[in-house]
Amino acid sequence: RHAAVCVMGPAGEGDEAAMALDLGADDAVGPEVTAEELALRTRGLLRRKRQSDRRRARMQDGLRLAMRDPLTGLYNRRFAAPQLAAIAARAREDGTPFAVMVMDLDRFKQVNDLHGHVAGDQVLVEVARRLTANLRDSDVLARIGGEEFLAILPSSCMTNARRVAERLCQVIDEDPIRLASGENLHVTISIGVAVAGAGGSPAIEGLVEQADLALRESKGAGRNQVTFRMNAA
Ligand code: GH3
Ligand code: MG
Ligand code: MG
Repeated sequence: RHAAVCVMGPAGEGDEAAMALDLGADDAVGPEVTAEELALRTRGLLRRKRQSDRRRARMQDGLRLAMRDPLTGLYNRRFAAPQLAAIAARAREDGTPFAVMVMDLDRFKQVNDLHGHVAGDQVLVEVARRLTANLRDSDVLARIGGEEFLAILPSSCMTNARRVAERLCQVIDEDPIRLASGENLHVTISIGVAVAGAGGSPAIEGLVEQADLALRESKGAGRNQVTFRMNAA
């Protein structure tokens, strides 16, 4: 699709050349074209193709950067907001509940203070990997702050959300994170969960705030745990 096309032969002359160009050819030459002219035209086509390849790559980079957190490769906050709106709209149509989780690493400042920022970054990457591995493909996972993550679980009732949140807590807690230096670091994560549409009409507004309040409760109650908020629907 991105190749440069030069039509050569009788079709490269007069009206036929116009038609070839109209159909998407980049250049057209008649049967009498000399090797020198063909070489010049080909060089021009290649130069233009390389330019448009570069332009396309820059645009794709831009799109990826607009959507992804460069450190962990997770979606960023900006991408998560419209995803949440779309999942909420679908849930409202289907009448199925969905869950929102806000997760925050415990005492992460200490990790940086004791082991350095580079180690902290390695921890964030590994935590993101473990969270991803323990969510479904249809779930949305985003890094919404320094050491804060948001998961949106479509078609998820309270029972399922509880099971998932407890597993996420566990997969961070159970195995220490091996740093590039060879050191092992034990970290934990606190989670707040809110479910919309679990009985009653789904109240979507304020769902993330509810999950955030639940997260504060997890922190206050000693960290490394999951707290739930039933939505007052
Ligand atoms: P709490 O259990 O209450 O959440 O304590 P905490 O130390 O995790 O929370 P606090 O908000 O005090 O500190 C968060 C720290 O996260 C501060 C900052 O140094 C660190 N941090 C934020 N973003 C990054 C990052 O991209 N890389 C690294 N290495 N550290 C980060
Ligand atoms: Mg935080
Ligand atoms: Mg924290």
